[in-house]
Amino acid sequence: MQNTATPTHCPYCALQCGMNLTPVPDGGVEVTERADFPVNRGALCGKGRTAPAVLSSSVRLTSPLVRSGGTLVPATWDEALDRIAEGLRRTRAEHGPDACGVFGGGGLTNEKAYTLGKFARVVLGTSQIDYNGRFCMSSAAAGGIKAFGLDRGLPFPLEDIPKTGCVILVGSNLAETMPPSLRFFTELKENGGTLIVVDPRRTKTADQADLHLMPRPGTDLALALGLLHLIVAEGRVDEAYVAERTAGWEDARAAAMAHWPEYVERITGVPVPRLREAVRMFCEPEAAMVLTARGPEQQSKGTDTVGAWINLCLATGRAGRPLSGYGCLTGQGNGQGGREHGQKADQLPGYRKLDDPAARRHVAEVWGVDPDALPGPGRSAYELLDALGQDIKSLLLMGSNPVVSAPRAAHIEERIKSLDFLAVCDVVLSETAALADVVLPVTQWAEETGTTTNLEGRVLLRRQAITPPESVRSDLEVLHELADRLGVEKGFPTDPEEVFEELRRASAGGPADYSGITYRRLAEENGVFWPCPTQDSDAHPGTPRLFLDRFATDDGRARFVPVSHRPSAEEPDDEYPVLLTTGRVVAQYQSGAQTRRVDELNAAAPGPFVELHPRLAARLGAAEGDPVAVVSRRGRAVAPARITTGIRPDTVFMPFHWPGEGRANTLTNPALDPTSRMPEFKTCAVRLETVEP
Ligand code: SF4
Repeated sequence: MQNTATPTHCPYCALQCGMNLTPVPDGGVEVTERADFPVNRGALCGKGRTAPAVLSSSVRLTSPLVRSGGTLVPATWDEALDRIAEGLRRTRAEHGPDACGVFGGGGLTNEKAYTLGKFARVVLGTSQIDYNGRFCMSSAAAGGIKAFGLDRGLPFPLEDIPKTGCVILVGSNLAETMPPSLRFFTELKENGGTLIVVDPRRTKTADQADLHLMPRPGTDLALALGLLHLIVAEGRVDEAYVAERTAGWEDARAAAMAHWPEYVERITGVPVPRLREAVRMFCEPEAAMVLTARGPEQQSKGTDTVGAWINLCLATGRAGRPLSGYGCLTGQGNGQGGREHGQKADQLPGYRKLDDPAARRHVAEVWGVDPDALPGPGRSAYELLDALGQDIKSLLLMGSNPVVSAPRAAHIEERIKSLDFLAVCDVVLSETAALADVVLPVTQWAEETGTTTNLEGRVLLRRQAITPPESVRSDLEVLHELADRLGVEKGFPTDPEEVFEELRRASAGGPADYSGITYRRLAEENGVFWPCPTQDSDAHPGTPRLFLDRFATDDGRARFVPVSHRPSAEEPDDEYPVLLTTGRVVAQYQSGAQTRRVDELNAAAPGPFVELHPRLAARLGAAEGDPVAVVSRRGRAVAPARITTGIRPDTVFMPFHWPGEGRANTLTNPALDPTSRMPEFKTCAVRLETVEP
């Protein structure tokens, strides 16, 4: 590789900040500012700045490992690949194709996600594939499809945010999860706009708000209904817009009118005057937005909750109009693209539905297979993990660490241990990889080229900047080798651009149409927004803003979805009287598999903690730093107390990045949303206990 700067993107979150990478003489790589990318304009958070540390980490995997006599020992690539092929072949022969499971990740590039889905369905013939993005964005996706006929995280670019009049930010702590994005909200306020933050904690993001609403965890749906009730009662509905661009208003209106503000106050704990203030701030400007993130989405009623916030936008004429709309702030690096190209249990490339005969025919033709031979939809992520060792006997896992990140994690860990065979591709020995029969060391972001799609729907080119160690291979090479060993010699190229060319054809005509996007365009245009059906950039520049003329429904109208409040799957009771909510800290990412291996990040965020209000701490008899046990119906986690008035007195918070006794996901509830199959990470009932230091 050349010793010049390569413009590329961060490996972590959905902002996909631009950065330059320059190889340095000691064999490492240096991150420098890349000001030409409009999302971050050179700014990076600590995770992005230190990302190269994982490339040269002493704990990086550099040899395949196979289990021998109970321990993982180094092996050759041929030995390891043969062992995986044999494990999958044996499972298929003894138990049928659906006994082979595949689990992917929202950090995989579009090319990898596409190839993994094709591998599962064409090579293994299994329906049992899903990925960790199910735990991230599935409720927002389901809500968006119901209302707009299409799911793209943000239907407008981030640069629209400073120009709108008001943003309601629901359940997002972007000051910690994606810090460079905070400037869009700072600029909004500088331009005279207002920011309303909905969060049960006084987060760093809430500190920036003009109005901070602190509902009980699990009541965001009721909160949105209360606001819509007031909008109707105060005569603030945009009747002309509702008549012209929507359908289903009367039912949604009736549902909202059953949620009186005083009733909503009792459910949420948010006083009626604050609800009125929020309505005034949202309705007075000409344009406004609602943005949701994991807070309202990771609930057993996440899809309905998203629907309630979308209803708010539709009733006030704030969707499909300039500088207005509903959007979801996707979390993982390729959280958007990862859900579009086939690693999701119910989808084919181009965001096509797996149970749609026309979609099956189209994709099968691109793949050169019989459409009738393609399996149907499989289980969602938690259901798939819960079936391990039961009717799923072998698992191929890529880009995920469910031992830390799955809900009811101790149970899932036992399920993983009960597998006949587990193969994991990773860059470090994650907690899940440590349980595997075979571990394959794979290339990292800076060592390979590929595309991602950021939270705006902007497809980006991540370029290779350095040469990978000789002893590692790319995920695409792994899938090529396994396909070959399992009897499919063609159709699994190792060159990312070749894969992308096929993805373009497979996505053509689908909701997420990439057919006009090429590597050349991505390089020249600094990213292209999908849908983009035409290669000529003059003929089609991509689609930064969706729905301005019509929504993606048959009749072009958005759909109101009538929704009503319902309790969370677990409400506090005498035995478990406190609510637990979980989330992230700025210095760690997801399960921490990479960021926990970076000294600077570990120094900043060395371990989990239990955040609780002084009143709750006093009742418990805990002081700052005391170990506190948090106990749910699923297990027990222990971490030091962090006492703050910036959280509701009925709620405790734990970040979920760590394994071991402080693993927050030991506690979380896998109660699933009936539509999106999203687990209820964001709220469950717990009790607190003191622990002898
Ligand atoms: Fe990377 Fe996200 Fe940080 Fe940007 S905000 S540097 S994309 S982790």
